[in-house]
Amino acid sequence: MGYPRKEDITQACVKEQALAIYDLTIRGAGIFGLSIAWIAVQRGAKVQLIDPFGPAAGSSGGVVGALAPHAPEHWNPKKAFQLDSLLMAKGFWADVEAASGASSGYARNGRIQPIADDHALILARKRAQTAQELWQDHALWEVIPATGEDWHPHSPAGFVIRDTLSALVHPRQACQALVAALVAHGVTVKAQGDDAGKVLWATGVAGLEALNTGRSRPMGNGVKGQAALLAYDARGLPQLYADSIHVIPHNDGTVAIGSTSERDFTSGTQTDAMLDDVIAQARAALPVLEDAPVLERWAGVRPRARSRAPMLGAWPDRPGHFIANGGFKIGFGMAPKIAHVMADLLLEDRDEGIPDGFRVDQSF
Ligand SMILES: Cc1cc2nc3c(=O)[nH]c(=O)nc-3n(C[C@H](O)[C@H](O)[C@H](O)COP(=O)(O)OP(=O)(O)OC[C@H]3O[C@@H](n4cnc5c(N)ncnc54)[C@H](O)[C@@H]3O)c2cc1C
Repeated sequence: MGYPRKEDITQACVKEQALAIYDLTIRGAGIFGLSIAWIAVQRGAKVQLIDPFGPAAGSSGGVVGALAPHAPEHWNPKKAFQLDSLLMAKGFWADVEAASGASSGYARNGRIQPIADDHALILARKRAQTAQELWQDHALWEVIPATGEDWHPHSPAGFVIRDTLSALVHPRQACQALVAALVAHGVTVKAQGDDAGKVLWATGVAGLEALNTGRSRPMGNGVKGQAALLAYDARGLPQLYADSIHVIPHNDGTVAIGSTSERDFTSGTQTDAMLDDVIAQARAALPVLEDAPVLERWAGVRPRARSRAPMLGAWPDRPGHFIANGGFKIGFGMAPKIAHVMADLLLEDRDEGIPDGFRVDQSF
């Protein structure tokens, strides 16, 4: 065996020096990986971000982007965390936009929901009271007469729920804005790279599948969703939620409609007749969309943890490795606060911001 060649040593030293400069390696450039990288960089950490498929290649590359609250009742740590995150979103996206010069599509224009019958009307009015207690003066949940205006969905009870907490982003644009904000801070998304510093796995459904290997009880699974983008200019108007369908007016003259929820599927990226049904339902609820051309049909697979809550924390049997996964249906809504609590953990070894129900070790 001979001595290593001089150029190999030089190459190794260069590599070692490069690795030594990173505090954090983040694998996965979806909304979780990008947001955590963004907050970590803002706190002065040296971060490398690696995704072999490119940014927003997974479920974050879609079109819907509702940042909508759970019903204001049966309060629990997940709902409290979500409320904080929704309230943080405005500042979070403003900073990203300022650094990137690009729009995330963020707007807090509220939400309208039709009310099906008298029973639902009583419930909606009760929730108006609990919203006052739980949301305090951060936002309003009120029951108001359905006006029959173009943008009000048909509401059998004659009233609708209006809340002022719901906001939206354009998921694809928001991820692009984060990528540009990171580039402005010297971080690019690389296709490959060696681990250096602490390693965070924010790899979405692929990460859940890897965690499932060799376990009798899965840690999570993928739930496919299909959505469509229509050409209809409703910018500035509230989003609608009717019969489990989101109708999201983006600020670029498009309206997103979503989504299906499929546990059994063969292709995670193909759309089919189920999406036609969703579009038809949205058009029935909101006749002004009847002739709006469909610009895009899109499908992705949401990472759903077994608990249905985000899964955050240290990887129990892999020292130095961490997990941020399980965004499921509200990954964009949760991202601002998740980015902060994960930065606390990764950079300062503090985990008190992570609710017990979100902890990885609970699921292992
Ligand atoms: C149709 C649909 C509608 C939705 N609507 C909403 C909504 O209205 N509001 C909301 O808040 N959320 C919504 N969601 C959910 C939201 O999109 C997800 O919660 C979120 O995208 C999850 O983000 P993530 O970063 O964890 O995962 P992903 O976006 O899937 O990112 C994971 C990344 O990891 C990468 N990767 C995979 N393997 C590796 C590896 N070995 N190394 C490095 N990188 C790897 C992938 O390329 C991918 O880029 C919706 C989802 C769908 C599908």
